[in-house]
Order: sequence, then C-alpha cells, then structure tokens
Amino acid sequence: MTHTVSPIGFVRSCFKEKFAIPRQPQLAPAARGVLELVAPFDQGNAVQGLEQVSHVWLLFLFHQALEDKPRLKVRPPRLGGNKSMGVFATRATHRPNGIGQSVVKLERVEAGRLWLSGIDLLDGTPVLDIKPYVPYADIIGSASNAIASAAPELIPVQWTDAALLQARDHATRLEEPLVELIEQCLAQDPRPAYQTPTAEREYGAQFWDLDVRWHYPQPGLIRVLEVVPAER
Ligand code: SAM
Repeated sequence: MTHTVSPIGFVRSCFKEKFAIPRQPQLAPAARGVLELVAPFDQGNAVQGLEQVSHVWLLFLFHQALEDKPRLKVRPPRLGGNKSMGVFATRATHRPNGIGQSVVKLERVEAGRLWLSGIDLLDGTPVLDIKPYVPYADIIGSASNAIASAAPELIPVQWTDAALLQARDHATRLEEPLVELIEQCLAQDPRPAYQTPTAEREYGAQFWDLDVRWHYPQPGLIRVLEVVPAER
C-alpha cells in the first residue's frame, strides 16, 4: 500500500544547517522557530484550542536526509558513529519513510503560525502533522532505553570578549536569546565523535543569519571566537 502525504506547513528555524543542531528537542530551550501553516490549515479554525496546550508533537520529514534505498542498520552519532544498530532501535535521520518526531514547546498560537521553542529542526523542514502533547498518556515514568539512557554530557563553553559582544549585539537586533542558543547548542559538543580536536582547528555553523566560529583550546572545552553575519 502506498499513501501520499503532504506538508501542512514548514518550519522557519534558527538552524540553517544540520551541523550543531541538538540531537533531540528540549536540549536547547533557546532554539526557536515558527511553524508556518499552508492552506487550508493557515486559517484560525485549524489551531483553535491549541492555546490551551503547552507542548506539541510534530511529525515531520527529514527533507535533507531522504534516501531511495532503505537502510536496515545505521550508525548513530550518539554511539560515536562507529557502531551500527537496527534502524528501528535509533532516532537516526535515515529512516524508511524519512519521518521524524519532536516534542516542542508551544510559545504562541496565531492563525497560520505556531511559535515554537526547544526545537531540533532544520530551517525549511516540512511538517506532516501536529498533535497535542498529552501528559497522562505521553509521560511513562517506568520507561527505559539502555542505548540512550541520559541526555548527552555537556561541556563548558567560553567566549572571547569580542565574540560575546558580537553575540549580544545580534541578540538585540534579532530579539532572540542568541547567547543562550549558542551556549546550549555548543555545550552538546557537536563535533563528530571520531574527530580529536586540536586548538588550531576551527569549527563553524550558521544560527539565524550568523556564522558562529569556535575552537577547542583543550579537549572538553569550547571557546567561541566570532559571531558574524553569514555570507551565504
Ligand atoms: N527528534 C527527532 C526524532 O527523534 O525523530 C529528530 C532526531 S534526529 C537524531 C536530530 C537531527 O536531525 C538534528 O541534529 C539535525 O541534524 C537533523 N535534522 C533536523 N531537521 C532535519 C531535516 N529537515 N532534514 C534532515 N535532517 C534534519
């Protein structure tokens, strides 16, 4: 059986590239975006009642990881990228139907627009459905997962004086919690686990319309070097 699905909207996100996006929602509460609904869901009727809900499940397409050939085993970054697992035992982006799911905080509801935080979604992500989070059914106190038993360990994030000033200026311009966003995302240590960082090696990622560059002055410590307008 095949069945066609079409997006009910698209996410405008602080994340403009996959690198440095947290591996799950809620890990960076300052990660914000807007879900822009498309017709006919852009009318107030479709979201009526959602203002009574604090969090929603988003079902979405990993549109930048779609593949023709299904994978049975994947190598999740969380396991260092060198151990393979059955695809259904992981939350990897390479999936049979390319479907992702994230619980995100609903900050504000407008006709045609949902303001979100705590997202792990790339800019432009097509959303297939929205469902309210239902605490009595969705919280399972006895649940366990020995593969992903705890949130990733955080590492300290420091700033050069110049980078912090740049981030504060852009935060004011964007009216976004940019310093917190950068700290929360970099503290997850987005570097591929197989790479041993040297102090000379610089890393970068785009948040909003900004290029953020950082390095590891020593293993397990990040220092943000600059926050400048993105060239792309
Ligand atoms: N919470 C979701 C889930 O469990 O289905 C996503 C988990 S997945 C491990 C999270 C990663 O997906 C992020 O770190 C980001 O790099 C990637 N990602 C987010 N949106 C994407 C998109 N539209 N296309 C491809 N990759 C995406």
